[in-house]
Amino acid sequence: MKLSLKIIICVISLQFLGTPAFGIDHSKLHKISAQATKPKEIKSFYDLSKNYKSIHYWTWQKIVKADKSRLNDKILIEFVVGPNSSYYSKKTTSAIELTQRIFRSGLKPTKIWWITNTNDDDAWAENKMKELGKSRYFDGNNGYLINDLGEIIVNKKIDDKFKNDPNISNGSSDAHGYVHALQTVQFMNSKFNQSETPRWLFEGSADVPMMYFLYQSNYKKWSENRKGVTLKKFSKKFFYDYLDFKEPTQRNVGENPWAVTNQWPDQLAYDIGSYVCDIFIAIKGPESIMNLYEDVARTGNFIESFNNIFGISWSNARPLIADALFKISR
Ligand SMILES: [Zn+2]
Repeated sequence: MKLSLKIIICVISLQFLGTPAFGIDHSKLHKISAQATKPKEIKSFYDLSKNYKSIHYWTWQKIVKADKSRLNDKILIEFVVGPNSSYYSKKTTSAIELTQRIFRSGLKPTKIWWITNTNDDDAWAENKMKELGKSRYFDGNNGYLINDLGEIIVNKKIDDKFKNDPNISNGSSDAHGYVHALQTVQFMNSKFNQSETPRWLFEGSADVPMMYFLYQSNYKKWSENRKGVTLKKFSKKFFYDYLDFKEPTQRNVGENPWAVTNQWPDQLAYDIGSYVCDIFIAIKGPESIMNLYEDVARTGNFIESFNNIFGISWSNARPLIADALFKISR
């Protein structure tokens, strides 16, 4: 099954612009440095209810630890810019490298081709993708190709209407986009694709390095963003319902696995998804997320893979996550 057009549009048109990242209320800055004792560690989903106040402290700690750890392999990136286009950011390389450090587990591309164009070079970009992806055996979606050398080819199109957006030049959209590239890479030897993982995981995990990159290791600003204010209006039951995901055997033939999520506004996949990923990271580090993708590529079943990675069934974890989402967003 092809992924919906929305994924492509997401990467290209930066739908995450509505995330709470840009609405910082400085009056509520988290005074982590003033805390006398270290917030209680969250070792399992069963700790969430009691220790929900320490979720974001541990999310941050585990992202920082991954960021500070060296990668074993050098990342090869080659930029190709359309003849009528100009490059849009000086920060793409650092955004990609940061993302690769955070999500270092799972399969990795042998090389990244970063094809950039504005509207004038659409036809050029299409040809370039075909040229570099020749003999390709996997088309994750139209914005990402993997060729038989294990190289990922990313088309970063800067639509005219977004070219002056600060998130183009500050590199944060590249961090987000490169997560989608890594998600695609996990499926390169699979008969399944990313639609077998929930949409909130797809977008939420892409927002994780984006948020971190935006705040450039500033815990105060980052944690202020992670207050969940945009989710305040939702009930615990809503969070529970939103996290519904049908196993392949529960779906009708041809039913979109993302149909449940698609009932609600698109932005929630980013907002709720990134909070759920924060919880996963607080419990088991960022590597758990790409491990989950790699496992779903093998099983084709998110519910089964969740249990494989986290050691708890989705049916047991889901109400605990919904409860934590409710509490951290009050
Ligand atoms: Zn996205």
